Amino acid sequence: MAAKKVLVVYAHQSAGSFNAAAKDAAVEVLGTQGCTVDVSDLYALKFKATATAEDIVGEVKNQDHFRYAEETKLAWKEGKLSEDIVEEQRKLTQADLVIFQFPMYWFSVPGIMKGWIDRVLTSGYAFTQEKRYSQGIFKDKKAMLSFTTGSNESMFSANGINGDMNVTLWPLQNGILHYCGFQVLAPQIFWAPSHVKAEARGTMLGGWRTRLQGLLLEAPLSFTPSDSFDGAEGFQLKPEVQEKHEGQEFGLTVGTHQGKRLPPNSQIRAGV
Ligand SMILES: Cc1cc2nc3c(=O)[nH]c(=O)nc-3n(C[C@H](O)[C@H](O)[C@H](O)COP(=O)(O)OP(=O)(O)OC[C@H]3O[C@@H](n4cnc5c(N)ncnc54)[C@H](O)[C@@H]3O)c2cc1C
Repeated sequence: MAAKKVLVVYAHQSAGSFNAAAKDAAVEVLGTQGCTVDVSDLYALKFKATATAEDIVGEVKNQDHFRYAEETKLAWKEGKLSEDIVEEQRKLTQADLVIFQFPMYWFSVPGIMKGWIDRVLTSGYAFTQEKRYSQGIFKDKKAMLSFTTGSNESMFSANGINGDMNVTLWPLQNGILHYCGFQVLAPQIFWAPSHVKAEARGTMLGGWRTRLQGLLLEAPLSFTPSDSFDGAEGFQLKPEVQEKHEGQEFGLTVGTHQGKRLPPNSQIRAGV
């Protein structure tokens, strides 16, 4: 594997946690392969999670009605974003692969990581109306979620009490990562490390270490290409695309499911 730059955006409070072990494994294994690995340790950085006017250096354009997206887009263009955002954008711009390492909180990422997403993926820098999804600004980069859960796998199945993990992952993987253009690698899910035996935790970490060795060569998850949607028709699936998939058992994706059954494991495994 050619030397690449990797950014690990990491959110756990404790160096003794399973998440810390997963992060350390990524740094070590990818480093051994000649990758340069940067870690943004969000709690250690005391990363600001709130999107506010303080993210702009100097005067904002409209103090009476502050609009975060417009103001930060302008500040990005004029080089007036706060130092912590600029630093994260610098690391992200250089990265070929971004790994988000976190414990699942409320079916999503911890607040501090959501703050990184809200503040670092600035309009203009990370996406525009024209450059999003498969035409997205980061289409030459890869990104993935690597996370732990408290629940076990069966609870996050199609018949499980939490519902299908594919549905849980759709907003994060499609609405954030793919929206910005990233090729999204299959998530690394460490099921309930607090509730399994030490041996099983060792096996999970071993599996991650093995996967890390070929990670950058993996095929990404599939999403519907942007040109399948008609901008003049409210970004609906084009009739010819709908027609082509009419006889199919499953919908195109978890989100654009066309009223059909969800394609199984499409947010969990590549090539399905
Ligand atoms: C606010 C909040 C919301 C939550 N929402 C959800 C939710 O929506 N869905 C859900 O499923 N869960 C949820 N949880 C639970 C949470 O996701 C889990 O507690 C978390 O993922 C466990 O990961 P951890 O790294 O904190 O585990 P830890 O408790 O740090 O680690 C688990 C075990 O691994 C051991 N360990 C550490 N390092 C190693 C190593 N190198 N080798 C082997 N073992 C090691 C630790 O000693 C420990 O015994 C929530 C928790 C909170 C606080």
